[in-house]
Amino acid sequence: MKIFCVGRNYIDHAKELGNAVPEEPVIFMKPKSALLQTNTPFYYPAFTNELHYEVEIVLRICKNGRSIQENAASQFYNAYSLGIDFTARDIQGELKKKGLPWEKAKAWDNSAFISNKFVELNEANLKSPILFSLKQNEKIVQSGNTKDMIFSFNQIISHISMYFSLNIGDLVYTGTPAGVGECLPGDKLEGFIGEEAFFNLDIK
Ligand code: MG
Repeated sequence: MKIFCVGRNYIDHAKELGNAVPEEPVIFMKPKSALLQTNTPFYYPAFTNELHYEVEIVLRICKNGRSIQENAASQFYNAYSLGIDFTARDIQGELKKKGLPWEKAKAWDNSAFISNKFVELNEANLKSPILFSLKQNEKIVQSGNTKDMIFSFNQIISHISMYFSLNIGDLVYTGTPAGVGECLPGDKLEGFIGEEAFFNLDIK
């Protein structure tokens, strides 16, 4: 399976990191070894001094395809969940300055956290905006609404599929809203979709 991520998909987040609002989706990938599922401990990585959380809605791909048109894209995902695109922001800053690839900042082991709870999509909820939030030590630090995405789920899927085949079980992290910030050992991160708790993760 593959893990795709969209960068800078919410205007307020692009701005908070001093990035331009993109004209086409910014796509990067994480390997399968990056995946961390609920109930597995998360250890603060030794190589960073600035670990950031980025809470994101994650789509699950349900059908193999490539070169998918936007108007057919919704057939290729059938569920979503909530995850964190963990980022070593200090390393990313260095790599960005040098124009180098982001893998060491974004694609390391356990950097793609995901809840094991999924919401199945159907005709009724497919087009509804999704509200989601992240609490750090019981305080809300990020709240997003998928209606504020620069590129919609269908635009993202279509764009990715022009370059990469999509396969059943692949995951797509759809971008983080504003409010990204640092987390430290001992922190408790809790993710919500609407009022419903999706995960509870301790940073060790
Ligand atoms: Mg992200």
